[in-house]
Amino acid sequence: MSKPAKSSARIAEKPGGKGAAKSGGKAAGAGKAAASKKPTPKTGSKAPKSKGPDRARTVEIFRRFTALNPEPKGELEHVNAYTLLVAVVLSAQATDAGVNKATRALFKVADTPQKMLTLGEDQVREYVKTIGLFRTKAKNVIALSEKLIAEHGGAVPADRDALTALPGVGRKTANVVLNMAFGQKTMAVDTHVFRVANRLGLSAGKNPEAVEADLMRVVPDDCLLHAHHWLILHGRYTCLARKPRCGNCVIAELCTSGDKVIE
Ligand code: SF4
Repeated sequence: MSKPAKSSARIAEKPGGKGAAKSGGKAAGAGKAAASKKPTPKTGSKAPKSKGPDRARTVEIFRRFTALNPEPKGELEHVNAYTLLVAVVLSAQATDAGVNKATRALFKVADTPQKMLTLGEDQVREYVKTIGLFRTKAKNVIALSEKLIAEHGGAVPADRDALTALPGVGRKTANVVLNMAFGQKTMAVDTHVFRVANRLGLSAGKNPEAVEADLMRVVPDDCLLHAHHWLILHGRYTCLARKPRCGNCVIAELCTSGDKVIE
């Protein structure tokens, strides 16, 4: 891929690798549909009122996301599968914008595992020092580059187990890479996906893995490739954690969340 593509997902996947994810892009859920003027629920209630995903409603939710943004993209800049992997590793507990600021310069000099090794850990640390947890992340970038060369001929494997065996790579990072670099139908669950899935009653999962499993089961198959991006973008720009923008939500009348705010 020659153009910086946009990426990803984050619930706080730790630099050590395991955990949840976070992600981003343009407002997937921004829309003109106003919330219906039905009974005014309490703001801040945490319990979704939905008893579970209704198939027709789920299909309609993703139909609207598709209509609004047929090809959703994330925001992590990269030029190939390797730089995508590095960018996602660096993005744990950091913003995409902050990562991009650092990686634009880094990827100009190191866009392959071998070039990264040639650059060396000290230099990598200098490039990424504006990103949180940069010391651990720089160490992981070097270590995963070594492992890619030693065990995969310098290529990024299109395999979940092989990816999660790399230093600093957890399930969420692997899902992002498998999805964006290899076109696999995976569900990277970050903090936004986790929240939105629960609010919409698509999952009642208490951890990212449970939400991932639920979403893989209930999201229409033809929407699985883009679903995590739509949910991330919706959570990032519309269904915000503290003050969801329900009045500008394209799926407002399909939402039964107790967090829904009717103005
Ligand atoms: S809580 Fe508000 S913003 Fe979030 S999905 Fe429901 S209506 Fe939309």
